[in-house]
Amino acid sequence: MDHVLGLKCVLCGAEYGVDEVLYVCPRHGDEGILDVVYDYPRLRPRLTRESLAADPTPSIWRYLPLLPVDPSTLDRLRDGRLPTHPLFRVGWTPLYRARNLERKLDLAALYVKDDGRNPSASFKDRASAVGILKALELGREVIAAASTGNAASSLATLSASVGIRNVIFVPAAAPQAKIAQLLIYGAQVLAVQGTYDQAFELCLVAAREFDWYSRNTAYNPYLSEGKKTAALEICEQLNWQAPDRIFVGVGDGCIIGGLWKGLRDLLALGLIDRMPKLMGVQAEGSQAMVKAWREGIPPEEMTPQPAETIADSIAAGLPRDRVKAMRAVQETGGAYIAVSDDEILTAMKELARGAGVFAEPAGSAPYAGLVKARQQGLIGDDERVVVIATGNGLKDVASAMKATDEPYHIPPEIEAVREWVRGAAESAA
Ligand SMILES: *Cc1c(COP(=O)(O)O)cnc(C)c1O
Ligand SMILES: [Zn+2]
Repeated sequence: MDHVLGLKCVLCGAEYGVDEVLYVCPRHGDEGILDVVYDYPRLRPRLTRESLAADPTPSIWRYLPLLPVDPSTLDRLRDGRLPTHPLFRVGWTPLYRARNLERKLDLAALYVKDDGRNPSASFKDRASAVGILKALELGREVIAAASTGNAASSLATLSASVGIRNVIFVPAAAPQAKIAQLLIYGAQVLAVQGTYDQAFELCLVAAREFDWYSRNTAYNPYLSEGKKTAALEICEQLNWQAPDRIFVGVGDGCIIGGLWKGLRDLLALGLIDRMPKLMGVQAEGSQAMVKAWREGIPPEEMTPQPAETIADSIAAGLPRDRVKAMRAVQETGGAYIAVSDDEILTAMKELARGAGVFAEPAGSAPYAGLVKARQQGLIGDDERVVVIATGNGLKDVASAMKATDEPYHIPPEIEAVREWVRGAAESAA
């Protein structure tokens, strides 16, 4: 890994060698999140627009030179060109030009990044994939994670075929599909009688005691490197013409922090020439970042806020990656926006019908945020905008049913269909 210079604390700026620390800055304990520092001059010739254009790899591994993993770890899992594990199909998700929605919002260009099409059906696979490779490098046989849903189901999906054991700490209530994924892939699930925060703390303590590798967000520095790959893909898919804005749902703030890191890497490598504005979207019932951003509260001084929303994947009272999440928006000139649960449900329908993308509530929130930002005049007519649909709608069918109407119930008779056709014609007239 001659391309990684070290790990840098986001609070104090102290730098460490990759062999010196495992997770966080020793001076700051669990809050001292580390950023991976690359040797950009060394990387420049290895990762060019031309080399990427010639690379058929349909996954995050096309950016291997810009990821903190040893290529030989990946090689050991390969079997020629065949994808031996779902791990090889993480990322390189479609970026759709959503012309219907673009017209509706009167925008120059609107793109939807469908990250529900990852192996476990959420964005979290990007981080889990890198976490699993690090565990293999370190020779660990067990990975532990605390999660409200997608992070855990992603870890379980991608670990299964690689033969790594998972111990998952979940709080009691998560959508059923996500729990089903954990169980079917054979993760060992500890349902903690307490909050997500308590489950998280317990997981950190247990992982230390039993020497399990920790796939905990805003703790393990390599996960954010996986998350940044969505930003790399968006820019490459747009032929290196960086968009004006990227909208994304924010819970713990790791995704938005990761996107920002990816964009900074691309700028440093000269692959893009300007920084898109990052737009963080939260639910009104869980808007810790929105509140702090509006009121100018520094992330270090934020206190726990209520976290009640239908968008379970972005419910977070005190976002763990708040330092990076705040900087990502401030330093790119973006904004934080809160949307109601009703607006999220409406967005879910509009994304499905207008772009053909069915996203879970947290994955629909960015579009709701875009609609609101457009109404408030925050976005110019000439802007090119990306929204990231971070999770598949089948993850949470109960919420989808709230967004829609009942079907029309009929007896098995043609007369009933005739009646319905007449009614439909009348209401259309
Ligand atoms: C985790 C998740 C998010 C939010 O990511 P954070 O890093 O917690 O801000 C958004 N959408 C989906 C579907 C997620 O699973
Ligand atoms: Zn520090």
